[in-house]
Parts: sequence; C-alpha cells; structure tokens
Amino acid sequence: MLLGCIADDFTGATDLANTLTRRGMSTVVLLGVPRAGFTPPAADAAVIALKSRSVPAAAAITLSLASLDWLERAGARQYFFKYCSTFDSTDDGNIDPVAEALLARLGGNFTVACPAFPTNQRTIYQGYLFVGGQLLSESGMRHHPLNPMTDSLLTRVLQRQAKGKVGLIPCHVVEQGAGAIRGEMQELQVAGIRLAIVDAITDEHLLAIGAACVGLKLVTGGSGLALGLPGNFRLQGLLKAALAGALPRIDGPAVVLAGSCSAATQRQVAAMQLSCESFAIDALALARGQDVVPEVVAWAKPRLGGKPILIYSTAAPQAVEQVQARLGRERAGAMVEQALGNVARELVALGVRRLVVAGGETAGAIVTALGVEGLRIGAEIDPGVPWTASLGDEPVALALKSGNFGSDDFFLKAFRTLQ
Ligand code: ADP
Repeated sequence: MLLGCIADDFTGATDLANTLTRRGMSTVVLLGVPRAGFTPPAADAAVIALKSRSVPAAAAITLSLASLDWLERAGARQYFFKYCSTFDSTDDGNIDPVAEALLARLGGNFTVACPAFPTNQRTIYQGYLFVGGQLLSESGMRHHPLNPMTDSLLTRVLQRQAKGKVGLIPCHVVEQGAGAIRGEMQELQVAGIRLAIVDAITDEHLLAIGAACVGLKLVTGGSGLALGLPGNFRLQGLLKAALAGALPRIDGPAVVLAGSCSAATQRQVAAMQLSCESFAIDALALARGQDVVPEVVAWAKPRLGGKPILIYSTAAPQAVEQVQARLGRERAGAMVEQALGNVARELVALGVRRLVVAGGETAGAIVTALGVEGLRIGAEIDPGVPWTASLGDEPVALALKSGNFGSDDFFLKAFRTLQ
C-alpha cells in the first residue's frame, strides 16, 4: 500500500476514494478500524472511514491513531487525514487535535490543512473559505445541526482548536507552483509552525500543493487535495496502470434514506417527492420516545421493488431546533441516526439492495448498522459521490452522499447511473 487515509466520516471516505481511483490509484474503503485478521483486497490506497467528526476530541484521537497503526502495518508510505470541504468542526476539534496526534505519532514536524474542493465550489482565499459566492459563515453551513460554521477564516477556526500557532500559505505563493509552496513550508517550519492552512481556488492550485506535499509524511485536507498525490507516486514509478474496477451488477429494490438537513439535500428531497412516494420520519415523535421504525418499515414493505422510495428526516432549521431544544444537539442527532440505521437494517433484510444515503453522520450510522466492513468504488454520480458496493458475498450497492453535494435531481440520477 502506498497511501493510507483516515476519513472523519463515511461520505468523506467514499469522496476521497473516488478521487484517488479516478487519478489512477486502486482504492478500497474500510469501514471503521479493521478487525484483527481482516484482509482487504490489495490496493494502492486504503481509506479507513471513521465516524469521528462529532465525537469528543479524545475519542477521535484514539480512533485515528488506531487507524494509523493499522495503515502502518499495511505498509503505507504516506498518510492523509480527510475532513469536510466545509471544514466541519467546533472549537474543541476535531481537525487540529487529530492532525496534531497523527503528526506526533509519525514523528513529523509540519503538515498542511487544505479543505478546498473547487469542483464543488469550495475555495480558499487568504484563509477565508467560500462556498460558491458566499463566505462559509453566510452559507447554509451556519445552520448545520451538529457543527454550525459561523466563522469563515480557517486560520482562526483552526487556531481556536490548536495549541501551537497556525500558519497560512497564501494564494500568491500557491500561484507560483510546487517549488514556491515547498519553500514557504520550510520557512513556516523554521518559524516553529506545524500546521498551515493553504489557499486554493482552482484544481491547478491543488495539483501544485499535492506535488509540494511529496516529502510530507502526513497531509490533511478535503478530497480535492488528493488530486495531486497519485502523481507523486507515479513519478516515483510506484503506480501501475490501475483502473477503476467495475462493480458487480446489483439488482434489487431501491431506497433513498436522507438524514442530512443541508440545503442541497432539502432540494433533493423536494425534487424526488415530485415523482416518487416518500415517508417523513417525525423527529419530534422520536424525541417523545415513540419507536417510529416499525411504522416506517410497514409503510415501505409493500412499495419495495417498484419505483425508488424516499425515507427522510430532513427538516428545515426551525424544525431541527425544536427537536434539539428537547434533547440537546448531540442526543437529537444520535437518535435520528439510530432510527435511520435500524430502518436500513430492516430494509436490507427485506431484500433492498440499492441504497442512496444523504448525510455524513447518517451514512456512518447506516453502514455501521448494516455491518458492512468495506466498500469497492464504482462509477461517479456527481462530483465527490461514487457508487460503491459492499465487500462480501451479497453486495449491497451504496451511494453515500455528503449532505451538501449533488445536483437537485441527484437521487433519481443515482439509480439511472447504476443501470
Ligand atoms: P450532513 O452531511 O448534511 O452534514 P449529517 O448526516 O452528517 O448530514 O448530519 C445531520 C445530523 O442531523 C445527523 O446527526 C442527523 O441525525 C441529524 N438530524 C437529521 N434530521 C433531523 C431532525 N429532523 N431533527 C434533528 N436532527 C436531525
């Protein structure tokens, strides 16, 4: 294995694996720290998908270090810590604490932090993160149910999480290419800086940053930063001509499960409702202690095998706030995730074989509930979202979509892409 990756959520893991696969590295996604004795398919890169974005920082560090141990034993030469392109985190972490812990364990003294993903309109200029034409803090991310992003200046966001001083490699340096970026990295290190946000507005910037990272043991960022990493291995003659493997053909009833409340998912839910049947999970009923899972499954059962159906907890910010007011942010999120995980398990037991999931935390809960150990990467549906197939004898086709990714018609488009 060449590149060992740790992703802080499951949709991020498939996003990263998708990028690496398309750039010529065979990549497998492993769900959670692999159990002892588990042998994944041989690949140039492995992405360990964790659900560590919204857990306490100490727990995220423990999970990430256990993943690093596994990847080191598997022979990785470089490591990538993947987080969201909207830098999802809070003042407690978990981006800096995990990056610092990985860096310390690897004996490194510098790494970069670059969540830019221009194809999906996440760009960084002078340390400020933009989502399309808006600053991060003016985008829908300010209403995120778990980690509202209310500060767009990433150096400041990271500084609140960090012990050491956070640096910046600004756009005018990145413009000059890999050599200039490497020079700046060295100057920052001399100044005692261990972690620096890097500006990037275009894929060319990301390719240059990737090339400049060749000597770093640890790289951190969004999936966009991975664009430039396979080229380093190719230049060293370490990459064979790997192509994205075709997934096995998977037929069977098709269901969309949406637990994201992000703006794009809200539009996607509304679009699918125009032509398909849907069931809204009542989060307030869940909060009152009502087990809605049997009701959802009874509704879905007679509809399986026809047109794809939609089951969602997706709600507007005011509705989410009501549930959170009752239970608190974390318990509300965990409760909805658990319900969707239970629904998924029952539906797969009833024969569902094609699942689109919207939401990073939601995807983590669902894939964990299904007991899936790993994923192969297939065709790309929209930037950052591939079809995947679970490893094992009876594969389930899974598309794990980060809440804010995908076009408005993503859900039905996904099933068309699979045929
Ligand atoms: P995204 O990819 O958009 O960030 P996530 O699944 O990561 O989506 O996060 C959404 C969070 O919101 C999850 O923890 C989910 O359980 C929670 N959630 C979903 N629906 C509701 C709701 N109606 N009320 C409260 N929380 C909800």
